[in-house]
Amino acid sequence: GGTVRFEDVTFHYDADRPILRGIAFEVPAGRTVAIVGPSGAGKSTISRLLFRFYDVTGGRITIDGQDVRDVTQESLRRATGMVPQDTVLFNDTVAYNIRYGRPEASEAEVHEAARMAQIADFIAALPDGYRTEVGERGLKLSGGEKQRVAIARTILKAPPILILDEATSALDTHTEREIQAALDQVSRNRTTLVIAHRLSTVVNADEILVLEKGRIVERGRHPELLAKG
Ligand code: ADP
Ligand code: ADP
Repeated sequence: GGTVRFEDVTFHYDADRPILRGIAFEVPAGRTVAIVGPSGAGKSTISRLLFRFYDVTGGRITIDGQDVRDVTQESLRRATGMVPQDTVLFNDTVAYNIRYGRPEASEAEVHEAARMAQIADFIAALPDGYRTEVGERGLKLSGGEKQRVAIARTILKAPPILILDEATSALDTHTEREIQAALDQVSRNRTTLVIAHRLSTVVNADEILVLEKGRIVERGRHPELLAKG
């Protein structure tokens, strides 16, 4: 399961200013759809609606045919995972932060997720840098390292529905390439919504939606969109 559908969704935060208009798309179970567009186009708002941080003002969003307004917060939480643009971590060890989405995970699973996200060296560190009982290094993690913690958490949780919102934008090019490979692995066979600024980062999506000023202005696969310029 895990098919996500947006049916003619409209949304506004303030009544006099529409943010999304006529948004219609489907992410079939296990597939990847990317939303690309300039800053302010409404991309992050789409993921907030899916999580019901806000409710649509028109149309509806369904998961496996069920309106998200009829899904409990608990099952929505279980079914979904997100790597946000800016990661805020708990003031506890990296290991704790990775485990947060799946508290029952074994030590070995936490380590494997940390390894895939290339954060294994920091597992005992505190994100904001204090000396720990276990670790020698009371490191302060950089923005990119915090992002890798969020990625490890999502790898460990491996939810059926995954939202990657500019997940690798805080990383340098070299790390980005390697982390992207880990994300590709976790998103394989999972319903995935990728949010990105640039077309070049979503080459492998089954469908790409180009969003401008709250409307889908173009859709297709990567080579087709590239050909159109
Ligand atoms: P993107 O992710 O494409 O950069 P967003 O979805 O974050 O775009 O924002 C779309 C529009 O909604 C922007 O004009 C932004 O200023 C506005 N917006 C975002 N969040 C809020 C909010 N909480 N209240 C009012 N307007 C908002
Ligand atoms: P969990 O860590 O178990 O995913 P959270 O309480 O952190 O649970 O988040 C609740 C739900 O909201 C989860 O599905 C999570 O993926 C999602 N979520 C977390 N942070 C954000 C965010 N910044 N924007 C949108 N959704 C988020």
